[in-house]
Amino acid sequence: MGNARVLIVEDNIDNYELVRFLLERAGHTTMWARSGKEGIDMAKTDHPDLILMDLSLPEMDGWTATERLKSDPLTKQIPVVALTAHTLPGDRKRALEAGCDGYLSKPMNIALFNETIEETLEKFSKNRKTGGPRL
Ligand SMILES: [Mg+2]
Repeated sequence: MGNARVLIVEDNIDNYELVRFLLERAGHTTMWARSGKEGIDMAKTDHPDLILMDLSLPEMDGWTATERLKSDPLTKQIPVVALTAHTLPGDRKRALEAGCDGYLSKPMNIALFNETIEETLEKFSKNRKTGGPRL
């Protein structure tokens, strides 16, 4: 799809740099929040097309931040993809229950990362175009 505005919520600079590189290489614009709280604030003011959410974050963890985003009419339509080293089956379930629309584990599989981002953007952009409910 390209040209999407993606908010990266990540407290680890190396992870952030890698994700930013991959997204910009695919033609997207990125923004960076370093805590769950900052992520929520930026989602409200900048209205990104997609949020990549680390789960272990300072101030407010990614599960809580996602729950808040998904319960706020201002931000609930923005797709959230969890990106996390929490790879136990229960962690994935918990992320989806918190309202995440997708889930990626670290260390990252780059092909899967690109595919998940593009699929999620496409799915949510279709909902916008048809004027139907956004998930
Ligand atoms: Mg982290």
